[in-house]
Amino acid sequence: MTHYPHLMAPLDLGFTTLRNRTLMGSMHTGLEERGDWDAVAAFYAARAKGGAGLIVTGGMAPNVEGGVYPGAAGLFTDQDIANHRKVTDRVHAEGGKIAMQILNAGRYAYGPNCIAPSAIKSPISPFKPTELDAAGIEKQIADYATAAARAKEAGYDGVEIMGSEGYLINQFLVTHTNRRDDSWGGSYENRMRFAIEVVKRCRSAVGSDFILIYRISMIDLIPNGSTWDEVVQLAKEVEKAGATILNTGIGWHEARVPTIATSVPRAAFTDVTKRMMGEVSIPVITSNRINHPQVAEEVLSEGCADMVSMARPFLADPDFVAKASAGKPQEIAPCIACNQACLDHTFSGKLTSCLVNPRACHETELNYTPTETPKSIAVVGAGPAGLMAALVADQRGHKVTLFDKSEELGGQLNMAKQVPGKEEFFGLVDWFKTSIASSDITVRLDTEVTPDMLDGFDEVILATGVTPRDPEIPGQEDHGNVVTYIDVLRGMRTAGPRAVVIGAGGIGFDVAEYLTTAISPTLNLTEWKEEWGITDPVQDRGGLSPKGPQPEPPARQVTLLQRKSEKPGKRLGKTTGWIHRATLQMKAVKMMGGVSYDRITPEGLWITKDNELQLIEADTIVLCTGQLSERSLADALETAGKSCHVIGGADVAAELDAKRAIDQGARLAASL
Ligand code: NAP
Ligand code: SF4
Repeated sequence: MTHYPHLMAPLDLGFTTLRNRTLMGSMHTGLEERGDWDAVAAFYAARAKGGAGLIVTGGMAPNVEGGVYPGAAGLFTDQDIANHRKVTDRVHAEGGKIAMQILNAGRYAYGPNCIAPSAIKSPISPFKPTELDAAGIEKQIADYATAAARAKEAGYDGVEIMGSEGYLINQFLVTHTNRRDDSWGGSYENRMRFAIEVVKRCRSAVGSDFILIYRISMIDLIPNGSTWDEVVQLAKEVEKAGATILNTGIGWHEARVPTIATSVPRAAFTDVTKRMMGEVSIPVITSNRINHPQVAEEVLSEGCADMVSMARPFLADPDFVAKASAGKPQEIAPCIACNQACLDHTFSGKLTSCLVNPRACHETELNYTPTETPKSIAVVGAGPAGLMAALVADQRGHKVTLFDKSEELGGQLNMAKQVPGKEEFFGLVDWFKTSIASSDITVRLDTEVTPDMLDGFDEVILATGVTPRDPEIPGQEDHGNVVTYIDVLRGMRTAGPRAVVIGAGGIGFDVAEYLTTAISPTLNLTEWKEEWGITDPVQDRGGLSPKGPQPEPPARQVTLLQRKSEKPGKRLGKTTGWIHRATLQMKAVKMMGGVSYDRITPEGLWITKDNELQLIEADTIVLCTGQLSERSLADALETAGKSCHVIGGADVAAELDAKRAIDQGARLAASL
């Protein structure tokens, strides 16, 4: 029986055939810039071995000025070609195919030498670009063609020309960024000329039997974006110019609409790609928030596209396709679209990895090799740190017993999944449960562990997590109006119509979203689009509603407080913090920093702000004031002179998140 028959069907491109309909979308890894080409090759080879139909590399700069940042990797020298050869050889040895993405960032390039059709600074970069003159434009086009020819020389099966997401080609297409009055600006024909010339020249540089993907911005999601007619016109011209495949890009990086974050409903933008079906005769790929083979299968069977691009899911599990085709989707480590270890790392200059799979981009140094000396290992705590430690230790051949005082696996992940827009956490908890169930791990839930129970184990891993910090505000215990985030997120207490959230960290924001949202819009695509002001691009240029965001009214009135005077939410995820801040603004949450907490009375919370005492009237006050390590078992073991490994929140509570917990658990278990 063929599982997911549409997804697993080969795609005949005439001169070559892709083994299935999955495209591993382009992602920046950061490995190339470190010059560790064995690691680059190992990363892509693992995905080829796991069955990806066609891999697209991270964006490679066609020249220095077009790199996403100074020093960004490209194919400039013969040594570069030799380095890339390592990658293509390894991928081919695994039966895969790989295309190199050519990315000229234009005004998004994070450097003073950036160039653009017009000298208009982007809102997400401090650098004003230099306007290209006619010779400069000719050079940019020639550099794309040279990069394509070099990619062929390096053994790639194709190239992807990055024409979306607001990068250089996109910047030529719309008046938002192209104010030229020469033959490269003005009419749409003129603005489109750069894209067409790039495709034509690349095609003539590589010959006919070479995959040429053009990634088109199907919906810009910015003011003065392309109309749908323009997008279709461009697609047809791109086909004529020699593209083999049309890939979908959704939204510019500067768009104030989330496009890939976890709160975006699954497959939210496939209807846009569907509109393109039939307009061109080359295969069309769809993209964004497709992270499960069933979703991909439905997208294809409903005729939304010929092929499905998934990027981050291949970080989370290199064997995504192999597991899907074997009918074992439950074994796929799910990408929860958190961005925490991938895009947040990329945009902080760190190596990309994955919250769910710490081996991603670390394939050459983090290995779960079978042990030659199996040990009996006790893991106490079945949150993300303990679960991962237990799984890796078991995979390596150790005899693992996993304890938790709760009745269920998952620890704090079970709270995260209750937050509107974080429904993907259900899948992560399920994956942990499935993985544990199919392992040899002995599970002892509902068990309060005492030191003597750990006698006889060769190694003890404590992942006992955290306890909420008590802010000790006068009056806190006296009126029955104070609850903790645990009470709220575990559904043990409900909040009244007016709530105050004390503490504006990740959990304070989560709780404020929980309290203001009656039904998660992530579960209703139409509502979610209305909430963010997304419309049909056929109706509105760029797919943005002239009415703007139309959020549902808040379920209750919420005030969110912190003592620091900085902007609340400033320390949230680099690529997702703005979404949380915007969501709370849409729910009219009053956010205040620079306050101190004086006392709690039946009327609410008394604070001092700017030396003024004031009452925030509230029925419920929710404490989200951070966490402390739960170390009572660790301390008891230490007193008894017994050694143990302490990981996760029990080790360091500050800035704890599932990424650090899982990474620490995996690395410890890999070393035992
Ligand atoms: P947190 O981010 O450290 O925030 C704790 C909050 O409590 C801060 O706003 C802090 O602000 C306040 N606070 C600290 N001590 C206090 C005291 N004694 N009295 C009153 N207020 C106090 O911790 P968290 O919100 O519990 O989150 C825990 C971890 O999970 C964090 O690392 C967080 O990033 C992560 N997380 C991430 C996400 C995400 O979306 N990525 C979601 C949830 C959780 P002031 O000191 O200024 O008052
Ligand atoms: Fe997906 Fe998060 Fe992993 Fe990135 S870090 S690949 S978003 S699970």
